[in-house]
Amino acid sequence: TSFAHFSFDEQLMHQIRKSEYTQPTPIQCQGVPIALSGRDMIGIAKTGSGKTAAFIWPMLVHIMDQKELEAGEGPIAVIVCPTRELCQQIHAECKRFGKAYSLRSVAVYGGGSMWEQAKALQEGAEIVVCTPGRLIDHVKKKATSLQRVTYLVFDEADRMFDMGFEYQVRSIASHVRPDRQTLLFSATFRKKIERLARDILVDPIRVVQ
Ligand code: AMP
Repeated sequence: TSFAHFSFDEQLMHQIRKSEYTQPTPIQCQGVPIALSGRDMIGIAKTGSGKTAAFIWPMLVHIMDQKELEAGEGPIAVIVCPTRELCQQIHAECKRFGKAYSLRSVAVYGGGSMWEQAKALQEGAEIVVCTPGRLIDHVKKKATSLQRVTYLVFDEADRMFDMGFEYQVRSIASHVRPDRQTLLFSATFRKKIERLARDILVDPIRVVQ
């Protein structure tokens, strides 16, 4: 597979060319077409596999389609991950690849300023990258709303469970409309993750790195 197989538009292809990636990684080859098709997906992949781009590129396509259909408030895509560092990395990738479309991404994580994050959310963003507890705090304080979210990603789900975020992960899934597309990434596929997948995904396709 080459990048041309994904049929991305010229703006996104331009950003990919700038990144100097020569070819898609295995998780991108398998995952991108599934994510573009609108199906739910389980990706068993570790850091270094290129999994971040595998959910960001289809997310950008999804947002550009969705933005036309549905005006309104709040993010269209939400990416939930375990740590502040990962939040910042994913947020940086969103900005890099989303630049051509002038999409706005906000990172909200535990330990950062509630007030500054709330301000950024209220200024408006199509993409929110977050740690689970902090997103819930902002939703409770009505700094943002999940009503427009149709693309939901849980990254490093096994790590989030190890950190004790299972309740928050499930709570976020239950607050996003059921007709969303959901992608779940995890380095391992343990019983608990399998159960989560059964509860929050609809007829998912599983991809193993
Ligand atoms: P990730 O597994 O998403 O954390 O990505 C690991 C690293 O691989 C990051 O530094 C990415 O910028 C890089 N990367 C992602 N996709 C590709 C690709 N197709 N070719 C080369 N490097 C890539």
